[in-house]
Amino acid sequence: MIQNRKIQLLPDDLQNQIAAGEVVERPASVIKELIENALDAGATRIHIQIRDGGQSLIRVSDNGYGIPADQLELALTRHATSKLETIEDLHRIQSFGFRGEALPSIASVSRFRLSSAQVTGDGAVIEVLHGRLIRQDHVAMPQGTDIEISDLFFNIPARLKFLKQPATETRKCADIVARMALANRHVDFELSQGDRTLFHFPAGQNLGDRLAAIWPASMASNCVEFSIHLNGLHVSGILGDPSTAQARPDRIYLYVNRRPVQDKTMLSAVREAYRGRILGKEYPQAVIFLEIPADEVDVNVHPAKTEVRFQDESLIFRCIRKAVLTNLEPKSCDAMPGVDPSSVYSVASSPAQASLRLPVQTETIPNTPSVHENESLYVSNVPKFATTKNAEALFASTFCESDDLRPAKSSTITVPPQITRLGAFQYLGQIDKTYLVLSSPDGMHLIDQHAAHERVLFDLLRDKGARGERQPLLMPLEIRLHPSQTHIIQDVWTKLHELGFSLELQTEQLLVLNAAPPLLSPAKAKEFLEDVLADKPKSMDDLWATMACKSAIKAGDQLDSAEALHLLEAWLRLPDRHHCPHGRPTEIHWSVRELEKLFKRRP
Ligand code: ADP
Ligand code: MG
Repeated sequence: MIQNRKIQLLPDDLQNQIAAGEVVERPASVIKELIENALDAGATRIHIQIRDGGQSLIRVSDNGYGIPADQLELALTRHATSKLETIEDLHRIQSFGFRGEALPSIASVSRFRLSSAQVTGDGAVIEVLHGRLIRQDHVAMPQGTDIEISDLFFNIPARLKFLKQPATETRKCADIVARMALANRHVDFELSQGDRTLFHFPAGQNLGDRLAAIWPASMASNCVEFSIHLNGLHVSGILGDPSTAQARPDRIYLYVNRRPVQDKTMLSAVREAYRGRILGKEYPQAVIFLEIPADEVDVNVHPAKTEVRFQDESLIFRCIRKAVLTNLEPKSCDAMPGVDPSSVYSVASSPAQASLRLPVQTETIPNTPSVHENESLYVSNVPKFATTKNAEALFASTFCESDDLRPAKSSTITVPPQITRLGAFQYLGQIDKTYLVLSSPDGMHLIDQHAAHERVLFDLLRDKGARGERQPLLMPLEIRLHPSQTHIIQDVWTKLHELGFSLELQTEQLLVLNAAPPLLSPAKAKEFLEDVLADKPKSMDDLWATMACKSAIKAGDQLDSAEALHLLEAWLRLPDRHHCPHGRPTEIHWSVRELEKLFKRRP
């Protein structure tokens, strides 16, 4: 039991050490505080040196406006700051610092030397050991501030033990310097470890240049830079290509008014915008700068100042999501090289083709003999296509005018062409009953037939899915519910109805399916409902994605060329076709250049 002692104020050095527990977790957090101070002092050059991951030495020097000689001691006093004067200031903070805690905290857990000059040649120095002043003097130095910290946490063994290997701490230091450097590109940043320069960012670089120094080339070169004003906010930054998504969220850098933050709202907005382009367990690369009026965000949430609280969280979510989505969406049907949209969309000119709406552009071989209708590509293939189990799925009757699937009673048509084109693409065949091969002027494309078809169906459902067409089942199907599933089905009840399901909850645990969307066979409809019950999809998008997955042709389904062409044509029309609704890629593309490299024809 704790003894009942007298209440008394803690001595200053103990107060500072307690504060240090929150402000300075590790060398990287010390560096962050010192860089913030340098930026607040208007520095345009900040050089950082570390040794042993920052544990034995951290030195940060800047060319900012410096600290007057008679205020050095004050700068090391808790709650002494030049950045706040009134309570109103606290509600519209423009500087990085404002708590007056960093320097005294750091000085209480290290050997600390602060030298500063407001005028070149006329500076002062102060030295502190574990919070106690040990030296004060004049020093000749250039204008700016130079802070040297050695033996961090030497007097706090518990903290010292908690530090990781120097290499890991170095990485964390480099990470924070890079993050600060990305947001302050007017400043020259340099970080060195011992005698080695880890990176140097000259002043005035652009975001891409700085990222290129810290991200792998494949990621940095595939990014899209953006800047957008929405609802009085400014969102800008850079977005990684979905194809370079990664397993961890460590390349999502979020900033609020140039302050690096960790924020769940912003993070989930970014992830939500990428949903469907990457797998659920993957993370994109993204740098997001949010500029927001200072009085709409509270930065005084935690001593480390990496958390913020927004006045209107949902506005932030919507703006970031919109900003990212707008910039991820392909601007037009130009994502695939060489596609002539008119050829892909065009309706062929012969009556048969027109009524079939086969947008496949065929290359007619000269001098081909005319043959009877039932030998033609269209008349022979389409009915077959329309009666296979794939047919309902491939061009869901729900969403096509029924006439579109009926062959025209036309007379003579040319023989099946040997080469079949889709705009600038040429269909070459199917591999392993799973992948469709296309060639184009820009190389070779492998399309995953299931993923591509899922995408096609998902888009159809999303565009027209709420029509609620339903097909009664001859034999209603019963689905047993586990007690835990009753509320799941109730949650999605209305949405399922919109999709075209007609359901009846006969008892708490017996669900009866009376009708289903025409896109799904009764067995598939049952499978779909079982998936819904197992996965708890939340949104209509989730339900469409599951339905698209259930209805799509599968890997292992043999497709003849007409079927393949139908699918490819529909898929090529989609502006955003490179991922299935679950985020898997639908296509792998090797450019001619990449093929040449693979065959070692060029370096
Ligand atoms: P805060 O930044 O919250 O004010 P700090 O403890 O980090 O608190 O710094 C205390 C004060 O010391 C600052 O308000 C500032 O006036 C001064 N200071 C610290 N670092 C620098 C620097 N690099 N250049 C100029 N002034 C500095
Ligand atoms: Mg500070």
